[in-house]
Amino acid sequence: MSETLLEINGVTKTFGGFTALSKVSTEVLSGERFGLIGPNGSGKTTLINCISGLLQNDGGKIIFDGKQLDGLPAHKRTAAGITRTFQIPRPFHTMTVMDNLKIPAEFVSKPGAPQSEITDDAMAILETMGMAEKANQETSGLTQIELRKLELARAIAAKPKLLISDEAMAGLTGNEVDEVLEILIKFNEQGMTIIMIEHIMRAVMQFSHRVICLDAGELIAEGVPEEIVKDKGVERAYLGV
Ligand code: ADP
Ligand code: MG
Repeated sequence: MSETLLEINGVTKTFGGFTALSKVSTEVLSGERFGLIGPNGSGKTTLINCISGLLQNDGGKIIFDGKQLDGLPAHKRTAAGITRTFQIPRPFHTMTVMDNLKIPAEFVSKPGAPQSEITDDAMAILETMGMAEKANQETSGLTQIELRKLELARAIAAKPKLLISDEAMAGLTGNEVDEVLEILIKFNEQGMTIIMIEHIMRAVMQFSHRVICLDAGELIAEGVPEEIVKDKGVERAYLGV
């Protein structure tokens, strides 16, 4: 775990006259579990949108796996190995769990790859998530945690090098949070680099090798969890003083 996988270099994003991200720079290492925290509205999702290509940054550079991403649309970044989840799960509602996974899996599969290979890979992901028995169920009948897991599974089905999880644990109980943490750690152990955005401080601190904190679009702290939890600037940002 030493090579840089993602370099964020002076990234700026404005909406009209409002600066949502101001010259944010950091890097994520290959194989790393990287935490992104900050109060509501601090720019976390905007940064993820700029990395995943849902938004284009106005300034700075984003380099992934040696390739400059700026200007590339989202689907090209997915093909390059970046996938993300959304804060509000976005499954295709009239489809089964398996079919929801097959769409991203087919998008990144080699031309002519057999259906059985795509299905087997998707099933392996569902097994890791404890969701295998839900494969043929329509998503309308899923519980909150199952929907959260499906959102992660759909992102993982595109075989990312970098998975970005945006508040995947919101609304879950303590035990469910632990279950999702365990799943993410399993995928990380298989070699996936993971950025976790999370409001649940215990979860992000337990998970991350390193954490950064945004406040009003600026990076205000970067360090190991033990440093971040006692950082005065982080404390001020969360208390709003
Ligand atoms: P976080 O994920 O940290 O809660 P966001 O990145 O969603 O914060 O939002 C950061 C700021 O940018 C907020 O003030 C939000 O209202 C604003 N913002 C986000 N997206 C847009 C947009 N598409 N248009 C205008 N303002 C936006
Ligand atoms: Mg957000």
